[in-house]
Amino acid sequence: MESNPKPENYQDLTFRDRMATVDKEGKRIWVFPKKPKGKLTNYRRVVAYFLLAFFYLAPHLKLNGDQLIYLDFLDRRFVLFGQSFYPQDFHLLVLAFISLLVFIILFTVVYGRIFCGWACPQTIFMEFLYRPIEYLIDGDRNKQKELARQQMNPTKLFKRILKHGIFFLISFITSITFLSYVIGWPAVSELMAGWPADNFGSLVGVLIFSGTHYFIFAWFREQVCSLVCPYGRLQGVMLDHNSIVVAYDYLRGEPRGRGKNEDKGDCIDCKRCVDVCPTGIDIRNGTQLECINCTACIDACNTVMYTIDKPKGLIRYASERSISEARKHVLNARAIAYSIVLVILLGVASYAFMNRDEVETTIVRTQGTLFQAYGENALSNLYDLQMINKSANNVSMELKLLEPTGEIKVLGDSLKLDKGEVIKRNLLIILPKEEITSSNTHIMIGIYKGGEEIEKISSSFVGPNSLDKNE
Ligand code: SF4
Ligand code: SF4
Repeated sequence: MESNPKPENYQDLTFRDRMATVDKEGKRIWVFPKKPKGKLTNYRRVVAYFLLAFFYLAPHLKLNGDQLIYLDFLDRRFVLFGQSFYPQDFHLLVLAFISLLVFIILFTVVYGRIFCGWACPQTIFMEFLYRPIEYLIDGDRNKQKELARQQMNPTKLFKRILKHGIFFLISFITSITFLSYVIGWPAVSELMAGWPADNFGSLVGVLIFSGTHYFIFAWFREQVCSLVCPYGRLQGVMLDHNSIVVAYDYLRGEPRGRGKNEDKGDCIDCKRCVDVCPTGIDIRNGTQLECINCTACIDACNTVMYTIDKPKGLIRYASERSISEARKHVLNARAIAYSIVLVILLGVASYAFMNRDEVETTIVRTQGTLFQAYGENALSNLYDLQMINKSANNVSMELKLLEPTGEIKVLGDSLKLDKGEVIKRNLLIILPKEEITSSNTHIMIGIYKGGEEIEKISSSFVGPNSLDKNE
């Protein structure tokens, strides 16, 4: 399909010379976004409050006797939704990391910054926790601007103390919640019950984290997305003309302006889309680094279109190409193919996680040992056994020599493992001489949990180079 050129003089590109939130002198321009309203904002609110509730409640919920998410770096044990992961699961971690990386790249190439607008913690904390409190105390955009212009007075002072007090309290609770993910909620409650002086180190740590969190959401705000976030900085290399982003339909909107003039496009230049933008940009200039795809401008413009009796979607989710070709559909063959790859990737990663061994067993021959005579007609080899119980229950294990005929003796205690326990034992494997076919006889050991075979492990049994079976 042929692309339609952009209307003449549509774009003044000087906005690309500087950031929307920095003036010519390099001073920060504070953004006072208007409170967004609309269908997409409502959907995002539901997603955001679900995620926030999950974040604050997860350390208080238990599954299989463990905290729902517990990242115990000291003991190197990570619990995710009732499943414990250990350093031995490193291969799964690598798989998860690679899948995540490929997922992020493919997802961004196809769907742009949807994650930033709908699920990024920075957006969720800012737009659905801190900003609503600001609207409640300081009022909407115009009132906030007016308050900012005022000299300090008792009302302003009261509002500032109240707002920043609540901001710091939320930051403190968030910091405690983060700590609960790492050391567990019981340990955190114990710390809180004690005297601050007794836990001075932890208290300082929590206060530093709270202060950083407070600084980000009370002051630094959208600068995180524009200046710090590596994902945001990478958008330039990941997005192309086919990526779906929040976009302005310049073919329909331009030339912008008010009045009933037939030559005019649908954009009445009311700037509502600019007023609601939390990063202070004008989406009509095209895709920009600062845009976090929050959809506030879509909702604002749809309301305007409704009021002036024009079709919605002057600003909408669309690819640059679909707009230039005046197409309604945004998904192309590449987007569909990439989406299928994403689903397969998720499927493979989930399968690998769900089918990992619940009890991991390692059996290796003890270093520096050879064979030993065991009675008159048999030889024995010594092995090191390690078992890790990754399941949510205590288990009782058993070993059987499947090939060839012989015997396994576990030296030391029985093979009972508590949840999360790691045990080490020595094994003696005894083979009758007639079963030893070479200096390296292949053996197969069956691993049984509660009487059910869960794994087979191959190893070798060392014998003499030339064995006189008649001896
Ligand atoms: S809200 Fe819509 S009509 Fe108003 S300036 Fe933005 S794009 Fe134009
Ligand atoms: S341009 Fe629109 S989608 Fe992008 S950050 Fe601003 S309001 Fe959100």
